[in-house]
Amino acid sequence: MSENKPAASSQLTKPTKLVGVKGMNDILPPDSARWEWFEDKVRQLMARYAYRNIRTPIVEPTALFVRGLGEVTDIVEKEMYSFDDRLNGEALTLRPECTAGVVRAVVEHNLLYEGGKRLYYMGPMFRHERPQRGRYRQFHQVGAEVLGFGGPEVDAELILLASALFKELGLTDIRLELNSLGQPNERLAHRAALIAHLEQHLDLLDEEAKRRLHTNPLRILDTKNPALKEVVESAPQLLDFLGEASMAHFNALRAMLDANGLAYTINPRLVRGMDYYNLTVFEFITDSLGSQGTVCGGGRYDYLIEQVGGKSAPAVGWGLGIERLLELVKEQSEPMAALAPDVYAIIPDVASLPLALQVIETLRAVGVAVQMHAGSGEGMGSMKSQFKKADASGATFGLIFGADEMASGQVTVKSLRDGVGAQRLQDLALVADWAHTLQSTH
Ligand code: ATP
Ligand code: MG
Repeated sequence: MSENKPAASSQLTKPTKLVGVKGMNDILPPDSARWEWFEDKVRQLMARYAYRNIRTPIVEPTALFVRGLGEVTDIVEKEMYSFDDRLNGEALTLRPECTAGVVRAVVEHNLLYEGGKRLYYMGPMFRHERPQRGRYRQFHQVGAEVLGFGGPEVDAELILLASALFKELGLTDIRLELNSLGQPNERLAHRAALIAHLEQHLDLLDEEAKRRLHTNPLRILDTKNPALKEVVESAPQLLDFLGEASMAHFNALRAMLDANGLAYTINPRLVRGMDYYNLTVFEFITDSLGSQGTVCGGGRYDYLIEQVGGKSAPAVGWGLGIERLLELVKEQSEPMAALAPDVYAIIPDVASLPLALQVIETLRAVGVAVQMHAGSGEGMGSMKSQFKKADASGATFGLIFGADEMASGQVTVKSLRDGVGAQRLQDLALVADWAHTLQSTH
């Protein structure tokens, strides 16, 4: 009880200024308009590809990520926000990614019972990383997941979908890298060769690589330490260990991308950060964002569903970092038109407010965007200051709700964009009709 009660003295001392959590950003206007614009584009595009929206909780049982992503991964080893629920002791984690949650939900609700599913999500993810440009502790992803289909045609569809999104956003400077991780038994043969290679260069490995040498050597290929570049580049390549079926899957995917004119490079060292991948893996990368250049990454995860307790079924998907993508949009795409209301409502007197607000609501109900002038609490402010605000709002028209005009059933319409400020009277009864004509002109 007592800890919830404000201290008696708190009213006397000046409260200290609170700031947000490091690495977790506020998204403010006008930037938030870019986010809304982007989200609209995503929804439209997903509908065209017949992908359906899924929304899973931000908090999941910690075991889901440990089991799903793999214990020896960057995320599970050092990036998760994990905590015990104070009330019942449950071990919980803020989701660092959404694939595991989607798979959990699909299994829990038996969604594959009537066949495969194409799903997408958008939302915040949490990773305790060192904040820097393009790397935050709360960041946002769009993801697309296709579950229940094993053929390379869905790998192709997903890659084409991501590429269509970039095109839709006006981005051209994003390249595609592709690799195949094969199947677990093929990885095992490669693993032995990889360990032998790394053991020959023990002196060059960092602490992390040494620790992972016998637990998860493939992960060493995903290192961000430039000192390991040479060892990694000379390492045996997984592609050389793939059997016929894996190669056939890879080649079929390539043929479909080729037929669609989608260029890619094969990067034999592309392994991705999570354990759950097999066969196809890919990343979309830009050179315009410095070292945080991967905007989208994904691949096949045919064993994950079984891993979290479901009936074995193939799956493939990608996740895309919205902050990084929108940074690119800001740099490379056409500037977006600033958000402006259609109408700024100028209200000279407090006494006019009830009727003015009624008319304003009528306009809004028929789809006109109206910004209402708001006073300081002591009157509405001078006409001069109201006109200044109206200009600054970018509105096309000012509506002046003067007491005299309104008494005779009228309101003044002033054009704010033509420079002359042409002004005329409009019947209040007809204002909704006038608004319709206004709408058809923009
Ligand atoms: P990186 O190698 O940059 O750490 P990752 O392999 O950990 O990326 P994924 O788990 O594949 O990233 O997530 C998919 C995408 O989400 C990334 O390509 C990136 O665009 C974005 N992303 C990942 N982590 C962050 C972060 N901390 N802040 C902002 N965006 C991120
Ligand atoms: Mg990472």
